[in-house]
Amino acid sequence: MTQTQELVAWTHQQKCEKAVESLGKNGFTALYCPTADSAREYILKEAASAQAIGFGGSLSVVDLQVIEALRSQGKELLIHNVPGLSSEERLAILRRQLTCDLFLTGSNAVTLSGSLVNIDGVGNRAASMFFGPRQVIVVVGRNKLVDGDINDAIKRVKNWASPPNAKRLNYNTPCAKTGFCSDCNSPDRICRVTTIIDRKPRLTDMRVLVVNEELGL
Ligand code: SF4
Repeated sequence: MTQTQELVAWTHQQKCEKAVESLGKNGFTALYCPTADSAREYILKEAASAQAIGFGGSLSVVDLQVIEALRSQGKELLIHNVPGLSSEERLAILRRQLTCDLFLTGSNAVTLSGSLVNIDGVGNRAASMFFGPRQVIVVVGRNKLVDGDINDAIKRVKNWASPPNAKRLNYNTPCAKTGFCSDCNSPDRICRVTTIIDRKPRLTDMRVLVVNEELGL
């Protein structure tokens, strides 16, 4: 690692640890993970007692490469975006995610004061985060941290998450072509549900892993 890389990693570590401290004060079980591998190990350990595991479609979770490991352990994986599913099958999986044993997701933004901000098109991912699953683990790469307020967090999502996600999902939105949000009124608009989780939801075992690596969008 070069000196520059070391200093960058150290600076990110301070932000990550600040977020972990704030999330802890807000009632979440929050952990600092120096690497994606350490987050992966934590998830695989926590998943030991879960049978049905839901995925919110998060690239952060894909980046951790936990899916194949869980599949090889014989877990039931509730993944709604695999090719070949009919719309009825897809909807059934989305509904089952709401009551699974363990739900794995990312978060579009997390403020250093410990709030999770998400914007969804359907709302399944955001809903499964705060009520329903027995346990929720949220994976947050350092690129998701926002040193600002809720409006800054929403701006991060509109600037850095929604446009590439619309492109990834092949949606016909202005941002999928330009990379910039124009607050569209497109039928394909993916920004329809905005949630702010600013304290641990009372009945949900919710854990937040703040990882000192870039994960997801
Ligand atoms: S409001 Fe429309 S243009 Fe803006 S990010 Fe969402 S989908 Fe893209």
